[in-house]
Amino acid sequence: MEIPARVALVTAPRGDAEWNALGDEAGTLLSRYLRINTTNPPGNEIVAARWLAMVLRRDGIESQIFEPAPGKANLYARLRGDGSARPLILLNHMDVVLASPEYWQVDPFSGAMQGGYIWGRGALDMKGEGIAQLMTLLILKRAGIPLKRDVIFLATSDEEIGAGVGAGWFAERHADLIRDAEFLITEGGTTRANERGGIDYFGVGTTEKSPFWLDMTARGTPGHGSRPTPDNPVHRLIRALDRIAEWRTPLVVTAGVERYFRDLSGLETDSTRRRWFSDIRAALRDSVAVRAITSDLTYNALLRNTISVTGLKGSDKTNVIPPLATAALDVRLLPGQEPAAFLAELQRVVGDTAVTFRPQGPSWPATESSTDTELFRAIEAAAHARRPDALVTTPMLAGFTDSHYFRRLGIASYGVGPFPLTVSESRGVHGNDERLSPEALRFGVRFLYDIVQRVAGR
Ligand SMILES: [Zn+2]
Repeated sequence: MEIPARVALVTAPRGDAEWNALGDEAGTLLSRYLRINTTNPPGNEIVAARWLAMVLRRDGIESQIFEPAPGKANLYARLRGDGSARPLILLNHMDVVLASPEYWQVDPFSGAMQGGYIWGRGALDMKGEGIAQLMTLLILKRAGIPLKRDVIFLATSDEEIGAGVGAGWFAERHADLIRDAEFLITEGGTTRANERGGIDYFGVGTTEKSPFWLDMTARGTPGHGSRPTPDNPVHRLIRALDRIAEWRTPLVVTAGVERYFRDLSGLETDSTRRRWFSDIRAALRDSVAVRAITSDLTYNALLRNTISVTGLKGSDKTNVIPPLATAALDVRLLPGQEPAAFLAELQRVVGDTAVTFRPQGPSWPATESSTDTELFRAIEAAAHARRPDALVTTPMLAGFTDSHYFRRLGIASYGVGPFPLTVSESRGVHGNDERLSPEALRFGVRFLYDIVQRVAGR
């Protein structure tokens, strides 16, 4: 696949004309990147990795491709600084989730540039940000910007299904290549645009909830469907699930969430909500406020451990009572919550010893990065350079990204969403008609470069 013309640079880009040209280069690169189908499974990220390596090589940046399994790949490139400060990692995943073309206005792997957008699965999650990170590297190299810290570009497989061959694999198997890093930037942040063309806030991801997925099993006496048994495991499972569905998990206000609501209170136009948000702990003692606030799905998820029952299985035959029935539970825990304590509480709510729970896979405690760092201050400064009065805040992510692998190594990791998106534009993530406007891309390339140059430039 061909790659677009490069914008020549002899010094750091200045002025809108040069940045617009770089934004156009990014748009053409993104359109090409979106044509590489990396739907996971199977992902086939090796094709994307080879393409990224080719783009990097053209600017004289060598990269290494690691292949943990056939078709899977993790790409690593490193721009050298003078070593006076520790490296910064730019982390992006190459895989995307399934797209159902029948619900799209365009082919999701066409990279179409039409109607004021660049279209394709991954435009927002997260090939667009991957391209902004790539452009940052290309600009630093092309313009010969002196660096005090190395800048590492890490493009990984397998973020979307977590089969153990992506960022986690890399962080474990090639820890020597990243262990010295101080900082990391990846997905999981928000630049929230409003319908008036302004920016409401810059949200930096410093923490996220942790998944604690469970298999739930009810046991009982099997038999023929024509002779009902009192301990039919399917009935048992239904009774237990009913208790779980009715359970209102306790409201918990973490320090980060308290700060986030206080930050948001300044944006509220309604005086009651402004009062609630300015002291969320006090508000949650008022049942009217609790009902109003938790009716917002996002706020609700930030204030409690949540459980979604997502899977059910009984007998394959209608006339057979099975020996066991199972359900899948998507549990998400707040920072500071102990999985074992949560499990004991769940067992108490169910109140049936014939019903058991088993974690589906490894879980980890939620991790958090401090806001008192040079990188966080660089993000704030870059945000304020664009919008002097904009709020910079730290929303907790109800989902999760690959950053926990790196936070556990002591690397301060932040979610940065470089593109200004309205609430409705963000819906393309894992949805239909995922797309990014060239203006948002241009903004994001310049914003991300600015952050990196502030924290890594000499
Ligand atoms: Zn993603």
